[in-house]
Amino acid sequence: MTARILNGNAIRDEIYAELERDIAELAAAGIRPELAAVLVGDDPASKIYVRSKIAACEQLGLRSEHLTPRANTTTAELLAIVQELNARDDVDGILVQLPLPPQIDSRKILEAVDPAKDVDGFHPMNIGRLIEGQASLVACTPLGVMEILRRSGIKVEGANAVVVGRSNIVGKPMALLLMHANATVTVCHSKTRDLRAFTRQADILIAAAGRPAMIAPEDVRPGATVIDVGTTRITDSHQAEKIFAHAPERLEKFREKGWALVGDVHPDVAQVAGAMTPVPGGVGPLTIAMLMSNTVKAARLRRKIRASETAASRR
Ligand code: NAP
Repeated sequence: MTARILNGNAIRDEIYAELERDIAELAAAGIRPELAAVLVGDDPASKIYVRSKIAACEQLGLRSEHLTPRANTTTAELLAIVQELNARDDVDGILVQLPLPPQIDSRKILEAVDPAKDVDGFHPMNIGRLIEGQASLVACTPLGVMEILRRSGIKVEGANAVVVGRSNIVGKPMALLLMHANATVTVCHSKTRDLRAFTRQADILIAAAGRPAMIAPEDVRPGATVIDVGTTRITDSHQAEKIFAHAPERLEKFREKGWALVGDVHPDVAQVAGAMTPVPGGVGPLTIAMLMSNTVKAARLRRKIRASETAASRR
């Protein structure tokens, strides 16, 4: 069997087309939602992430603001920036790029963001609402995974779903969303005994551990849907040779560039799974799409503009 590849870029484009209609509707009502992105310091990976989020705003016609406090900013100074953004009526979404430098109390900052502008869905109030099944702003990556499943026609209701990883930003909200969609959910983590015994039970397997290629073909039930959230940049040629042993084009590319982005799922799983997301080009594009969607949603909710009956209103 060769898995159906679930193309995240194509799903992202579908969502963008819907968002463009939503944004045009808001523009007709005189509203152009704004996302404020705060990047403290100069971590190169964070810079790339924030740049791509700003670029997505520009592509869709959302306003954006990029605040770049210096690396030695204190918790009190960053709190003042967040509070100013909370108070501004023209700002609909606030995103504080993680990780923050070690001197900053990240929890304090995330809790200071107005829950109505918390487009990352990290505020305890939004997490509480997610537990109750009433969330409006939910963490973007798990939300993106649900869009992949829904738009690919993968049945979630009644499915055995196994989530590998229990972080606050991916694993836990992922498990809650799947549970609310009526899957039977198992959450695995680094202390799980005999992980394979669980992953092999999965109709839907979500890998979010950050361990390159850890899910092998033997870990997957034939025909299962496998969603690979993991993204790790590998530079070790022995590791690349093992992972890309049956993917000569990817090994070739690795040799040209000296690095490759790999997921938590070994590429050979494609020989066993029924459907599978690639890395890159699977979950990644959806994370930014859902951030854009949350920004539009936050603008609508805060400004009390009802959604029309577009597909976007169901997200
Ligand atoms: P994280 O905070 O490091 O959490 C990793 C989780 O995986 C933890 O719960 C950990 O268990 C579990 N884990 C680690 N090793 C394991 C093992 N050998 N067996 C079973 N479970 C194991 O990471 P995260 O922020 O959730 O991110 C996970 C991955 O997704 C990373 O590769 C990250 O880069 C990627 N990611 C991608 C996107 C995207 O847009 N594509 C967005 C966010 C994250 P314990 O709790 O026991 O430590």
